[in-house]
Amino acid sequence: MLQVDGLHSSYGRIEALHGVSLAVNRGEIVALVGGNGAGKTTLLRSISGVQPVNGGKVSLKGEDITRSSPHERVRRGIAQVPEGRQIFAPLSIEDNLRLGAYLRKDRKVGEDLEQVYGLFPVLKERRFNPAGGLSGGQQQMLAIGRALMSRPSLLLLDEPSMGLAPILVDQVFEIIVRLREESGVTVFLVEQNAFAALSIADRGYVIETGDIALSGTGKALLEDPRVREAYLGV
Ligand code: ATP
Repeated sequence: MLQVDGLHSSYGRIEALHGVSLAVNRGEIVALVGGNGAGKTTLLRSISGVQPVNGGKVSLKGEDITRSSPHERVRRGIAQVPEGRQIFAPLSIEDNLRLGAYLRKDRKVGEDLEQVYGLFPVLKERRFNPAGGLSGGQQQMLAIGRALMSRPSLLLLDEPSMGLAPILVDQVFEIIVRLREESGVTVFLVEQNAFAALSIADRGYVIETGDIALSGTGKALLEDPRVREAYLGV
């Protein structure tokens, strides 16, 4: 589904990604874990096209999209749930969801709204209320629902657990697993919460200062002494 080869990205003269390579297969949940400032967000934004790259290649379904605009990538099937969710607080929940479908030309938006409401009933109950009134966990659900409205084949999630109470973290990760089961969407997520992310991931990568340091199945990484010491505090 997604192939990243030798990706470089910089902020001015400071390089944040030093040639990152990874792959995400169709139907997988793949987690990218790493500490503060390791380059997770930069990598995700390079994949969705909002962050310029200085070298390397990004391919989606075998096609080179390295130079494609962000909206072209959405059209091709990538949707990103940004860090901090970035919902439009004064707009209604339903209008936030409809915004996720703005690039679509078909008329099935109503059907997809119902699907999202099926997944997140609390959003339906409050559909006409301002999104700003939702709790943090509900806003995360809204941000995921909005991304689903573009009917993505690849869902990118930036720190879905950020700022959430532990019980809500579990809920959000359960939803991600359910989503993949129900819609077959491929998921690439970046997380500082390595335990939660690797627990649901088929495979994972560890990024350290702009380089991939380790990779393996979610289970193998959870058991890896280097991961346990550096990211799980064991
Ligand atoms: P976090 O979990 O804190 O968001 P991250 O792993 O997502 O961290 P990035 O935000 O991708 O890391 O940052 C990677 C590196 O790029 C860091 O050294 C950071 O200081 C730097 N960086 C990020 N954004 C900018 C920016 N807008 N201008 C300059 N440097 C930046």
